Amino acid sequence: MRKNIIAGNWKMNKTREESESFVSDFIEGLSKISIDCEVVVCPPAIFIDQVVQGLKNANASVGAQDMWHTAPGAWTGEISGEMLSSSGVSYVILGHSERREHFGEDNDLVSQKVHKALSVGLKPIVCVGETLEEREGQDFQTLLKERVFGSLKGVSVEDAENIVIAYEPIWAIGTGLTATPEQAQEVHSWIRDFLTSLYGASVAQKISILYGGSVKPSNAAELIKKEDIDGALVGGASLKAADFVSIIQSA
Ligand code: 13P
Repeated sequence: MRKNIIAGNWKMNKTREESESFVSDFIEGLSKISIDCEVVVCPPAIFIDQVVQGLKNANASVGAQDMWHTAPGAWTGEISGEMLSSSGVSYVILGHSERREHFGEDNDLVSQKVHKALSVGLKPIVCVGETLEEREGQDFQTLLKERVFGSLKGVSVEDAENIVIAYEPIWAIGTGLTATPEQAQEVHSWIRDFLTSLYGASVAQKISILYGGSVKPSNAAELIKKEDIDGALVGGASLKAADFVSIIQSA
């Protein structure tokens, strides 16, 4: 009933030439496998046009890594939801832990971005996760629940079906440490329970919950086969076309 999603977050990586050569290698790689999931590539904003053009005949969508939540106007340096949706973008990552940590984004701002994204037809990939210190603290489950509730504040039952959640334990991002499939499944099932309490079981069952944090070809299949893990948000391993294709193949 819900499709697995494999999304690649390039973060602030690649030059124009590298982006172009990724696209051609990626298309070639995809043409050799059968794809049973939704594939999303999230390049830096400056390469969105190039990647949208490059992937237009491929079985893959394009996502952005962030956006601003207001109507278009005097927000120097920012990118609006309207710009993204009119550029062939389908998804937008919101509330990534790097945005929360380095740019001071809180649940409130993330929820405003979620509303804006939905209003212009973008599917938000809403990220939540915990530091190692938070995981070891007593209220880890409550803390995650607050992050999910806060980031989705005011999202209606109708809109909730268009949201994707990404659980990304901060201690597993870019560190090579991955949550075990059991650890990840435990948290994903809590998140599904929170979503059930917010939107009811039938909607919660339709929401894809992705895992992110050092996902690579060698561990993707084990993670994704867990009941509540509906794909992955991949950082480092999405930069190499062959690795990313291999992760897609395991979904
Ligand atoms: P890594 O896969 O490099 O750990 O990054 C995960 C991530 O932050 C994806 O958004």
